[in-house]
Amino acid sequence: MNIAHNIQELKKSIPDHVRIVTVSKMQPVSALNEAYQAGNRIFGENKTRELVLKHAQLPSDIHWHFIGHLQSNKVKYLASFISLIHSIDSLNLLKEVNKEAFKYNRVIDCLLQFHIASEETKFGLDMAEARLILESDEYKKMANISIAGVMGMSSFSDDMNLVRQEFRNLHDYFVTLKSSYFTHSDSFKVLSMGMSGDYQIAIEEGSNMVRIGTAVFGERQY
Ligand SMILES: *Cc1c(COP(=O)(O)O)cnc(C)c1O
Repeated sequence: MNIAHNIQELKKSIPDHVRIVTVSKMQPVSALNEAYQAGNRIFGENKTRELVLKHAQLPSDIHWHFIGHLQSNKVKYLASFISLIHSIDSLNLLKEVNKEAFKYNRVIDCLLQFHIASEETKFGLDMAEARLILESDEYKKMANISIAGVMGMSSFSDDMNLVRQEFRNLHDYFVTLKSSYFTHSDSFKVLSMGMSGDYQIAIEEGSNMVRIGTAVFGERQY
């Protein structure tokens, strides 16, 4: 597996305005180092423990993104350094991030994760739940988080029409939230959607941040 080559090919196939999160979960530090040498600076992980260990071993100019389901009691391990949390799926979790970020005098960028797939197992908000968060007094008082956009995962399916429709829905949510709650701020701008198998469709549907693991590193070793 030639990681540098994969990254080059990936970059050729993706427009400049789309940021690439290199999803390095379950990959050894040596593989992350190769991606780093090839120029990648944004890495995505979905387990706090694994992320913390890798953060300690890799260069400090890496932007670490958390992309998995996040338990409130684990936020404290990430709060001092995390660049972006893609997976806010409750007001409680957001409160916890705000509280921990305050301790480090930071403002942590967060994405609201939407449930767009047909599978019940996936996490995420619907539009009504997102509105409840953004209209709550608690949210309005939070000074140590910034909602930077939305994230979603499509169905695990070969039906690319279904996947496209799900991305289209997420794009609609993004536009609606922006015009309802963030008209006067530039900070709400990230539409995180697309993985190795569907990033081209995601970009056609407006994604500006793709999360790519397998297409960079090859299959994960479970
Ligand atoms: C694992 C994972 C990815 C990357 O998946 P690939 O198919 O390997 O590109 C992207 N997003 C999330 C949330 C993930 O858990």
